[in-house]
Amino acid sequence: MDLEFDQKHIWHPYTSMVQPTPVFPVVSAEGVSITLEDGRKLVDGMSSWWAAIHGYNHPRLNRAIREQSQKMAHIMFGGFTHQPAITLAQKLVELTAEPLQHVFFADSGSVAVEVAIKMAVQYQIAQGKANKHKLLTVAGGYHGDTFAAMAVCDPINGMHSHFRQVLAQHYFAPKPECNGDKADTREIQRLIEQHHQQIAALIIEPLVQGAGGMHFYCPQYLQQLRQLCDQYQILLIFDEIATGFGRTGSLFAYQQAEVVPDILCLGKALTGGYMTLAATLTTSKVTQGMAALAGGVLMHGPTFMANPLACAVANASIELLLSSPWQKRVQQIEKQLQQELMPCSVEPLVKDVRIKGAIGVVELHQQVDMHTMPEKFVNLGVWIRPFGRLIYLMPPYIIQPAELSKLTSAIAQVIKEINTTKPDR
Ligand code: PMP
Repeated sequence: MDLEFDQKHIWHPYTSMVQPTPVFPVVSAEGVSITLEDGRKLVDGMSSWWAAIHGYNHPRLNRAIREQSQKMAHIMFGGFTHQPAITLAQKLVELTAEPLQHVFFADSGSVAVEVAIKMAVQYQIAQGKANKHKLLTVAGGYHGDTFAAMAVCDPINGMHSHFRQVLAQHYFAPKPECNGDKADTREIQRLIEQHHQQIAALIIEPLVQGAGGMHFYCPQYLQQLRQLCDQYQILLIFDEIATGFGRTGSLFAYQQAEVVPDILCLGKALTGGYMTLAATLTTSKVTQGMAALAGGVLMHGPTFMANPLACAVANASIELLLSSPWQKRVQQIEKQLQQELMPCSVEPLVKDVRIKGAIGVVELHQQVDMHTMPEKFVNLGVWIRPFGRLIYLMPPYIIQPAELSKLTSAIAQVIKEINTTKPDR
């Protein structure tokens, strides 16, 4: 592959065109194995940013794409509908909490968040509360890279701080913290009491904050948010783009809190990581409540909305997940991560090790060197892509114990190596 051309001309995620970071040429992927151009095989610890839960090149998912492509790869959703979209909406309505009855298909997670925000603001205007147009969120969150989504990402860690001047200004409470099962909601409660007349919705990633810092917190926090939102007529938006479809041990993280949001965003693993597709679900309370403004018309309609190939593969992925022992697999991954990652916590460089479901996080005291660390992992035969001070694993659920051990021992080895090369920290 012409890597020189790549470095000169192609933007990769979160990179610079003047100081490119190295990329590895990949030619294929199968199961949990990624094959590089030079023939090296890497065990996948990332599920392609938490999406490829069934691994790669899965025959059932391949078949779904192939069969749908022979009927129609795409058709506009304005004025048409099709079976893959109807089947998928049926599944999503059935799998999520009873009040979530209406589905908007978006083309990426960020867009699903934009749509959720539009729904919330439109709902409040239609209720005669046009002043309720701000959002409330928590520090340490991540909701996407488009403008409305950026405005609710962590203002410091959220990668978007230099756009501060352009971003809508919202309310930020501290990162959700719990002491055992006691949630500390004092500050968010104070913000709500003070500003509820301006707040349309509260948006949060339930139980696990992902790209904003891989932080975990207790279900009781969400229960208290639900009560506060009800009390002050604030809509509650759960962004389950990263946590949805089993990652935290339940199909959706909100189920562990037994709390139902007014709006739910799904993405990533929705298609088993095959294609870009996301969904924003909401309740009849919201759709009915929006109706006093423009008859409830939501002014959003991306060209590739409900793309049939993406819907077909999402249907196959959900069927595959539900017919697999996914819960047992996630539990096994969790147990093994406990056994094999926890010992890293004794290393001086390690600040914290935490595990939830099929997520393992090693937080260091210092930033990871992104120019050198991915290569260290590749040389050990694994694909692990850290960020900030975090080295983490979110493997496909089909990973076997020996493959998972390869990932955990690579992390242990790389941390030991940094310890010895940087004795002063
Ligand atoms: N919300 C959350 C919780 C996410 O983790 C992400 C992606 N990391 C997004 C939104 C944005 O999704 P996308 O990258 O598909 O736009």
